Amino acid sequence: MTREGRPTSPGGAAPGRPHAPTFTGNRALALEEPLLFEAGRLETSGVDFEAVPAHESRLGGLARKAPIGLPGLAEGECVRHFTRLSRQNYAIDMGLFPLGSCTMKHNPRLNEKMARLPGFADIHPLQPQDTVQGALELMHRLQDWLLKLTGMAAVAMSPKAGAHGELCGMLAIRAALDARGDARKVVLVPESAHGTNPATAAFCGFAVESIPANIRGRVDLEALLARLGPDVAAVMITNPNTCGLFEPDMKAIADAVHAAGGFVYCDGANFNAIVGRVRPGDLGIDAMHINLHKTFSTPHGGGGPGSGPVVFSAALAPFAPLPFVEEEAGHLFLVEEENAAAHHASAFGRMVAFHGQMGMFVRALAYMMSHGADGLRQVAEDAVLNANYVLRRLEDVLSAPYAATGPCMHEALFSDAFLDGTGATTLDFAKALIDEGFHPMTVYFPLVVHGAMLVEPTETESRARLDQFVGAMRALAARAREGGAGAMKAAPIHAPRARLDETRAARTPILVWQPPAADRLAAE
Ligand SMILES: *Cc1c(COP(=O)(O)O)cnc(C)c1O
Repeated sequence: MTREGRPTSPGGAAPGRPHAPTFTGNRALALEEPLLFEAGRLETSGVDFEAVPAHESRLGGLARKAPIGLPGLAEGECVRHFTRLSRQNYAIDMGLFPLGSCTMKHNPRLNEKMARLPGFADIHPLQPQDTVQGALELMHRLQDWLLKLTGMAAVAMSPKAGAHGELCGMLAIRAALDARGDARKVVLVPESAHGTNPATAAFCGFAVESIPANIRGRVDLEALLARLGPDVAAVMITNPNTCGLFEPDMKAIADAVHAAGGFVYCDGANFNAIVGRVRPGDLGIDAMHINLHKTFSTPHGGGGPGSGPVVFSAALAPFAPLPFVEEEAGHLFLVEEENAAAHHASAFGRMVAFHGQMGMFVRALAYMMSHGADGLRQVAEDAVLNANYVLRRLEDVLSAPYAATGPCMHEALFSDAFLDGTGATTLDFAKALIDEGFHPMTVYFPLVVHGAMLVEPTETESRARLDQFVGAMRALAARAREGGAGAMKAAPIHAPRARLDETRAARTPILVWQPPAADRLAAE
């Protein structure tokens, strides 16, 4: 957050914000919040430390000479600081979070209860395996669910997010190619791909080439087939893709890639739309990551860590990384070394020091078991139904470039064509939505659509909530059409902050707090 983003003095409204100034700078019960460094005082502390008894230092000249400079706050002030900050944050527990591609669904509280059981929460990864049989059984069962749901041959549980899973899958492909002495270098990626796909391929030393989309928003099959050859190591395809559309040619693509000696990586981040209905193994996929934190509802995006297990075909299974859990005569154990007799005989190595995100495993399995196989299928159906409801209720006032090609999957994609000539942009539209009490949808992604707005309601929103969202979107579209772009440019006017310079924050982040110049002078 830039300092400029904050009102400069108590009671001063930020520029362009038509508010009666208040003495404190607070707005109703939305309280302004300084940084801890600005609020804290070095002489205060939430804890009373006893004076250190006389002792002989063994730090040998390494002892700190100046005060550490951490801000001190009494416990009550500290609690208030973080509570005030949390109230400035929007969360799925507060309302609709239609961020396309992110699958922000409700996180059932049952999962949280399970994850806090001491047998799962209070164990250590280096504990003797005999003392953690229950935790290993949980991992084993989760492996089993993932293999059954995907129809694949093996699974690596350890990757810690979707992008980490992509790395795992592409490293396995690299290892399989190396094992047969094949130096193929090219990875084909559709132009609608999530940015992590080309980044992963490049990180693994592959040369990335883009495959165009056709006018129906799918991979251009002709272009892909024409490019296949002995230099192509793999294709990376997202299915359902980032336009929210199913790739109907997936099997034909996989067959052609295999015939040309390459592998098929599927970005499975959108598995939510097809879980229980389509088994990726039946489509000829060789490796696919699953975002447990999306499809299987574990808190993410500031709310918790991710987890990205990768499923493998029989061709890649021997190269999958260590460790993995096996069962023999009711005894569970971790396979941590390469072992010619076991699966993964040619494991390419490890992705992490230990076993992966145990807390996410517990939540994901609790989610699967409480839904059951039929419930998971209904998750996919309801997610697709909700997205199509949004698409059809908005296509007459927004621009929906692929609506005519049939139903969408779990997310509805709009372009900014409906804003042509209004003076408003996709960004203005998204900011105005904040004033209406909604977290905006994903904007300007995927890149194949101009000024994209990608709405993913997920299956956990009610009809009433969707109607309210649709109502807000329709009202904003009408406002833009009727010459209201000027007001939209000032949005959001009701949020704690208006428009931050996100580019500057990303390119030149200020990571170390500096005391204001006046304080520095006084200290010198
Ligand atoms: C979310 C997502 C990813 C990346 O997953 P992370 O867990 O954020 O690393 C990759 N591809 C697609 C299509 C996604 O939606």
